[in-house]
Order: sequence, then structure tokens, then C-alpha cells
Amino acid sequence: MSDILEIIKARDPGEKEFHQAVQEVVETVQPVLDRNPEYRHAKILERIAEPRRVIMFRVPWMDDSGEIHINRGFRVQMNSALGPFKGGLRFHPSVNLSILKFLAFEQVFKNALTTLSMGGAKGGSDFDPKGKSDNEVMRFCQAFMTELSRHIGPNIDIPAGDIGVGAREVGYLFGAYKRISNEFTGVITGKGLGWGGSLVRPEATGYGCVYFAAEMLAVQNESLKGKTCLVSGAGNVAQYTVEKIIELGGKVVTLSDSSGYIYDDEGIDKDKLAFVMRLKNIRRGRIKEYVDKYSESVYTEVDNTLDYNPLWNHKADCAFPSATQNEINEKDAQNLVNNGVKLVGEGANMPSTPEAIDIFLDNNLLYASGKAANAGGVAVSGLEMAQNSMRLIWPKEEVDSRLRIIMKSIHQSCLDAAAEYSVPGNYMAGANIAGFVKVVNAMLDQGLI
Ligand code: NDP
Repeated sequence: MSDILEIIKARDPGEKEFHQAVQEVVETVQPVLDRNPEYRHAKILERIAEPRRVIMFRVPWMDDSGEIHINRGFRVQMNSALGPFKGGLRFHPSVNLSILKFLAFEQVFKNALTTLSMGGAKGGSDFDPKGKSDNEVMRFCQAFMTELSRHIGPNIDIPAGDIGVGAREVGYLFGAYKRISNEFTGVITGKGLGWGGSLVRPEATGYGCVYFAAEMLAVQNESLKGKTCLVSGAGNVAQYTVEKIIELGGKVVTLSDSSGYIYDDEGIDKDKLAFVMRLKNIRRGRIKEYVDKYSESVYTEVDNTLDYNPLWNHKADCAFPSATQNEINEKDAQNLVNNGVKLVGEGANMPSTPEAIDIFLDNNLLYASGKAANAGGVAVSGLEMAQNSMRLIWPKEEVDSRLRIIMKSIHQSCLDAAAEYSVPGNYMAGANIAGFVKVVNAMLDQGLI
């Protein structure tokens, strides 16, 4: 184990997701450190793995029956070498400091890859919007923003959505910030189209992930046409991943939520996807209802006694994990390989365990890690910030074409960095190295701060 990992583990024992994220980067950037001894001298790893600041706060709110609840709020401002802090907010009962530090750490390199001027951050709360009324969600968001507003701003830190923070939550958070600050500014991205949002922001992460996959396939003289794809999740990222795969001629056979997954051998077509979008975004129902409507499909409930996820155990060509971290373990990865999967595009952040990644690399899969593959979301958030600054709205075609260009350029940066550091074709190493070098050079230019 390298010194930096020992330091981090000793200083913050128990932050296992954060350790996992740092370990992956530290291991892949060793050749960069060997070639640039000044980075070691400048203690760059020690600096880059320590957040600029962490804000933790109490969020008291009242439910519809008058009962008081206390949740915990967080903002991890990791690195601002390339621009103001930028990263999503996650509302989910599993949220803790380790998860937000891992997400903020990865966000730094991801944002660097987009070529836009954005530092990295992440935040959120252990609040669960599931099962809450709109009024309860609004009161929570207002209470959360009462504290968060002191630490963010359009040139300081610009949050966005993530798991559990969609259009509704972004609206309430923006409204609360506007009331407190008495300013209408682009302080958060993912805003509604009528009040400062960007076209293609809802689609961006899923579309971008599929554009990246299409680039990887093109290098092999292949395309998504006719490919069978496994997709997990049924939220924002999963929905638009499915939409773009269908558009490019692929067939998606799975979707999931935290209760279980559906398998549809005939493929999820546009109409079925429209049903899922209504189910998840408007009715806020469970994916299980898909089989009530489409009886040819099969629903499988989550079984915690299994040491693998059966969703990843179907014949397919490509897999797009789009739910949450560590959703593909070693056994799942082996099942994917055994079932003929040749490409993994990570819509979610860190969905594959280190052991799973080793299996992908040992079997020469086209493996796009989340920092590169899902960077389209924050890239279009960056474009939303640019439009807000200009007080303009670009047409859909313009934003989509910029998104494509950015994903193409990230793909090329990964390939170039991997080749330069003697790991040709290793997209994960390429993404880590390309992002790392950009951030580190900016940090060195800016002195010891
Ligand atoms: P959503 O809240 O819209 O959807 C999340 C989906 O994943 C839901 O179907 C949810 O099921 C499922 N899920 C969440 N947690 C778990 C869990 N612990 N176990 C099983 N299933 C789970 O979130 P997004 O689609 O926005 O985010 C999905 C992933 O993509 C996350 O890793 C996020 O960090 C990443 N990401 C998102 C970006 C964005 O622009 N939104 C940008 C880049 C990355 P249920 O409804 O039951 O909770």
C-alpha cells in the first residue's frame, strides 16, 4: 500500500468508499508520478486527497403530521484548481461522509476531463424523498438550503442533482436560495427550462454515456446497432441511456430499482420507455409495475441472500450500470464475461468494485469508468452555467452537438493518456491520468494553497 493510502486510512478509518476511490486513482497515476518527481516533492497526492473544506450541518424539518425530523446535511468542497466547486447533491438514506468524499474526489477528475472550467464537489443528505409528500420535500429542501446557501454561489460552488434530487428538488432548492440571497443567479444546474435550465441537461448523462460507448465501438469498427444491452437503475441516467441506445439501434432488456429488476426479452421500446418515465418521474412508482403492463416481461425481487445480482446474468453484448456504487461485484463481472458482454459503460459513479474492474481488464473488455463515461451530465451543467452567464438559451441541437464533441474529446483524451503511459486501450487508467495531470498542473501553477 502506498504512503498516501496509509495516511488516509489512518486519518479517516471507516471511509471505505473514499479509500476505494483514492486507491484506484493512486494506483493508475504511479507512472505519472515516476515521470514527474516534482509532483511527489509538492506532496500532490496528499493535497489532492484532502478536501478544501467539508461542511456538515443539522437539517430540522417538520412532516405533514407535525412531527419533527432531524437529518444531516453535507457539502464536500474538494478542489477548485480548475474553476468553482461543482457537483451534485444526493438525497438517499445511505448518504454519509465517506460516500460524498468519494463522489467529490471522482468529480474533480471528471470535471477536468470535460475541458470546462469546473472544480469538484459533492453534497447531500441522508433524507429519503421516497414516500414523502411534495410539501414535505419542499420543507426539507428549504431547511437544507438555509444552511447550504452560506457556502455556495454562482462563482463559488454550483450544486446540481444526483440520486434522489431531480427536477422537483432542484426547483425547491433554487427557490429557497433565491429567497435567502435575494438574487436570481445560476447557483444550481438542472434548473427547469423556463427559468434558466439548459436543453438536453436531463438527457445529458445517459446520452453522453452512450455516445462514449459508440466511440469505443467505432474504434473496433463496430456500432450499437443490433447489440443487446443490460441497463440497471430506472432513474434519470438509466432512462436516457435507454432512449439513446434505442435511437442508435440497440436493444435494452433490463431496468431496475432498489426493490428488484425487470427482464424484457422483446426489448424495451420507445412506448415502454415512455411508460417507465411516467411511472418513475410522475407517479413515483416501483419498476415491478412494468410486468403488470407488459406481461411478456419478468420481475425478480432483490434477494440479499445471493452473492451476485441476477440482472448481470443474462446474455448480452453491453452493460450500462446506471444505479449506484458497487453494484457490480467480482461474481457479477464474471457473469457478464461468461454471458458474452464485451463493453461496460458506467453511467453510475463507481458501480464496479476493484475486483470486478480487474476481471473486465483481464478479459479485455471495453471498459469505460464513470469519470469518463458519465461526464456528459456535468459537461452540460457547465454549458448551463455558460448560458446563464450570457443570459441566453442555446437550441437543443447546439447543446447536443457540444455534448457529442465533449464526449468524443474525453474518449480521445483517455486513449491518448493511456497510450502515452504505456497502458494502451485502458480507458480507466487513461481517464484517471488525463484528469489528474490537468488538475495537478493547475494546482502547481497556483502555489501552495
Ligand atoms: P435517480 O435517483 O434518478 O435514480 C437512481 C436509480 O438507481 C433508481 O432507480 C434507484 O432505485 C436506483 N438506486 C439508487 N440507489 C440504489 C441502491 N442503493 N440499490 C439499488 N438501486 C439503487 O439517480 P440518477 O439516475 O441521477 O443517478 C444514478 C447514478 O448515476 C448515480 O451513481 C449517480 O451518482 C450517477 N450520476 C448521475 C448524474 C446525473 O446527471 N443525474 C451524473 C453523473 C453520474 P429507487 O428508485 O428504488 O431508489
